[in-house]
Amino acid sequence: KKLGIALVGLGSYSEHQLAPSLLETEHCYLAGIVTGTKEKEGIWKEKYNLSKKNIYNYDNFDTIAKNDAIDVVYVVLPNSMHAEFCIRAAKAGKHVICEKPMAVSVKECDAIINACKENNVKLGVGYRMQSDPYTNEVKKYVKEKTFGDVLFVSSDAGYISNGNPDQWRLNKALSGGGALMNMGVYAIQTSIYGTGQNPISVSAQEFSTRPDYFKDTDETITAQFKFANGAVAHMMTSHNANGNRLKCHCSKGWFELDPAHSYGPISGRTSNGNTIEFPFKKQQALQMDDFAKHVLLGSKNIAPGEMGKRDMIIVEAIYKSIAEGGKEQTLSLGDLGIVS
Ligand code: NAD
Repeated sequence: KKLGIALVGLGSYSEHQLAPSLLETEHCYLAGIVTGTKEKEGIWKEKYNLSKKNIYNYDNFDTIAKNDAIDVVYVVLPNSMHAEFCIRAAKAGKHVICEKPMAVSVKECDAIINACKENNVKLGVGYRMQSDPYTNEVKKYVKEKTFGDVLFVSSDAGYISNGNPDQWRLNKALSGGGALMNMGVYAIQTSIYGTGQNPISVSAQEFSTRPDYFKDTDETITAQFKFANGAVAHMMTSHNANGNRLKCHCSKGWFELDPAHSYGPISGRTSNGNTIEFPFKKQQALQMDDFAKHVLLGSKNIAPGEMGKRDMIIVEAIYKSIAEGGKEQTLSLGDLGIVS
């Protein structure tokens, strides 16, 4: 069986990445859509050969509960709408994939996790890099100490935003925050899988050079993590500087990915002069197949809700550190059972 996925929100990511990837997946396919834009219904119906009964709008979405053709609802809306639609999907008895960042607060992450538990449905976060072979090679180097112990990790995740200043990503009510919410989660994740540990504390700083454009949300944030074994990580995330890199400095060498988290191909190299190379496959196809295998075959959920929540705890600690002038914030992430 292939799982039927319904995409909620047919913006850029659904149109250019997820829907085309669903033509390459082995364990799931695009079965339906949920859109607030009437004109998109016909266009998507035609392009992806969708059945009329699998097309919903935001108002009639809850009736998806009665539709056996839809197994999974994938929420691809602005961040502040994730919680509402994930909870509605769970209540309709559908498995849920929630785009990153999982929500705009830890409280909302908890509400999503609880709704999925109460309705006995699976929950995954749209962390495509967790399914990427380069990421998993890094995890292997860290675990097997191929280059010795990781001592220091440096991560960047950013791009230069020049578009419409009214876009939802620059509107805190819709995005929950700026660069940190949007790109920062990648640098948080690379800091964690680059060391193989959850951090025990974080200190952070915010910088703004274009306050007229970034009126409502953070432009550039740097943060430093400490880890229990003495390792340290530094991250930079920005809507005003390009960055797409992970470098791990170890006791016997180094390895790096640059680019580290774009749609691919990812590129990597190591201190022994080798390049890290894997055949290109769409990360989104790998990610959705991994989730489908979790639902169908009970394989590991590699990006569970608790991982999205863990990252949101760190996001909130970073904003708190900035509000307190860079004060170090202690993190207790052990109870979540997530280290990757
Ligand atoms: P987008 O602006 O291209 O699309 C947003 C969609 O939401 C549109 O279809 C729009 O019509 C709809 N929408 C409904 N209510 C809206 C409102 N009040 N304001 C604005 N749009 C509204 O955004 P996107 O790039 O597709 O991002 C959607 C989600 O996907 C975000 O959570 C984003 O972080 C995530 N995303 C993830 C990745 C990834 O690599 N995993 C990449 C891009 C985006």
